[in-house]
Amino acid sequence: MKFKKGDSVKVVIGKDKGKTAKIEKILPKINKILVAGVNQYKRHLKARAQGQSSEIVTITKPMSSQNIALICPHCKLQTRIGFSIVKNDKIRVCRKCEKKI
Ligand SMILES: [Zn+2]
Repeated sequence: MKFKKGDSVKVVIGKDKGKTAKIEKILPKINKILVAGVNQYKRHLKARAQGQSSEIVTITKPMSSQNIALICPHCKLQTRIGFSIVKNDKIRVCRKCEKKI
């Protein structure tokens, strides 16, 4: 997984295309990413017990990493993530400004 929690990303595909937000959670098992405030759906919860009112809750669904692009914290551009090896450590770099992300 190229992305990390806390990364700023831009949605490039789907109903929230163009939005920018931060990654809230990485779900490596299903290869999806939860982005704060993006890919939200409203779900109507019916009252289960008497006296309880039904309510509408907003849930955020995780999305595919292919639907988002990283915003580089240095050059503020939408970029792709590259990797480079520094002192045997694999670090992420911005393909545009080549700074460490
Ligand atoms: Zn950059």
